[in-house]
Amino acid sequence: MIRIALLSLLLAATLRAGGTPNIVIIYADDLGYGDLGCYGHPTIRTPNLDRMAAEGMRFTQFYSAAEVCTPSRAALLTGRYPIRSGMCHSKIRVLRNNSTGGLPAAEITLAELLKERGYATACIGKWHLGVWSNNPANHPMKHGFEFQFGLPHSNDMNPNPGNPKLAGSLAEQNPAWWNAPLYRGMELIEQPADQTMLTRRYTEEAKKFIEVNKSRPFFLYFPHTFPHTPLFASKDFRGASPRGIYGDVVEELDWSVGQVLDALRNAGIDKNTLVFFSSDNGPWLIMNQQGGSAGLLREGKGSTWEGGMRVPGIAWWPGKVPAGKVCRDVACTMDIFTTGAKIAGAVVPQDRAIDGLDITPLLFEGGKVAREAFFYYRGTELFAARVGRWKAHFITQSAYGKDGPAKHEPPELYDLENDPSERFDVAADHAEVLRQIEAVVAKHRAGVQPVPNQLEAVMEVK
Ligand code: MG
Repeated sequence: MIRIALLSLLLAATLRAGGTPNIVIIYADDLGYGDLGCYGHPTIRTPNLDRMAAEGMRFTQFYSAAEVCTPSRAALLTGRYPIRSGMCHSKIRVLRNNSTGGLPAAEITLAELLKERGYATACIGKWHLGVWSNNPANHPMKHGFEFQFGLPHSNDMNPNPGNPKLAGSLAEQNPAWWNAPLYRGMELIEQPADQTMLTRRYTEEAKKFIEVNKSRPFFLYFPHTFPHTPLFASKDFRGASPRGIYGDVVEELDWSVGQVLDALRNAGIDKNTLVFFSSDNGPWLIMNQQGGSAGLLREGKGSTWEGGMRVPGIAWWPGKVPAGKVCRDVACTMDIFTTGAKIAGAVVPQDRAIDGLDITPLLFEGGKVAREAFFYYRGTELFAARVGRWKAHFITQSAYGKDGPAKHEPPELYDLENDPSERFDVAADHAEVLRQIEAVVAKHRAGVQPVPNQLEAVMEVK
């Protein structure tokens, strides 16, 4: 044991001497494409994310690999479409607080790859890849993370209606009603968690992790609880934004990003750290004023229209990622897996399909990446596919959830570069393009193996 510890310390010291970079992923929950100042929001103030974009690269066609929480996180951490890991389901959209399933042990997370390379690893925030109080195998610490602080699932999944839903006379949500469980490792440290303090506490933990590990390579995975509803902000932010409570929450997330980047600068490791900021899916439109905005994109969370899956994407690495660059090429969260492995000197698994691409040519070299297609799944169903500028919808379903899925034969076709809002179906004029997309889809489908579904298993009711 001591020998292994010494060897891993030695490996860490060697890696640091060789300039092995740290990797930080900050992942918002249900933040829309149009919710940040640098993506055109007129009233939400996000000076830290705007600065991050000005010092780094802002993507305009960046995708999450799913339109809801659980599959999106599985894709980010494994570099694979969730259809390959069984982490999606067409009816059960996400893992719930009584689920026993979770990310299969056979899946290889970015944390596992990096830990093997001597990285310190932490998951701070919302997990949503399995509830460990139902099945200990679901804990982040079983998936490559040495440290964990946060919630096992969304902040709305464990309500205790024995409490009043609203707190005080200001029509504010009552954390006791929502009853979210906050963990440090396997230990439940607070329930109901004071959700007004979650962003602040996550941020303090992240800063501490950076400070403690500044002299060795580390991977910080920082998936925020917000702006998923119910919305809570600390008193410094509550009531501050012209955009109401949603704006308060996003402005506090922005503050948190600034704290993390400052912690890297203060530790003198900003020039050796790749930070990626993104969101797990589009805005939760059915929450009305409490949901965000996809800007000019159509629809939001839960749909495979662009607003459901195209999200903010900002990369920052002073001195490596050129400052102030806007990248209009297609990229996605699964690429963070492959790219993270590459810059850490790790080899992506060779025994399985990996869908993420190495985007270091986009990030560092002003080059291009050969991407054949991007696939839009809703649960286990392939709803749409993008090849180049063209997107074909085989099935559509509204984010507002009023209608069931609609099948399109022939598929609807949109030119996303000319018509990013998906307003004009041009299928009739481009039969050849549709045939090409259908061929790409057939090839993709042929490479997808059936796997056991992870979202169905639940605790038995006694
Ligand atoms: Mg989400």
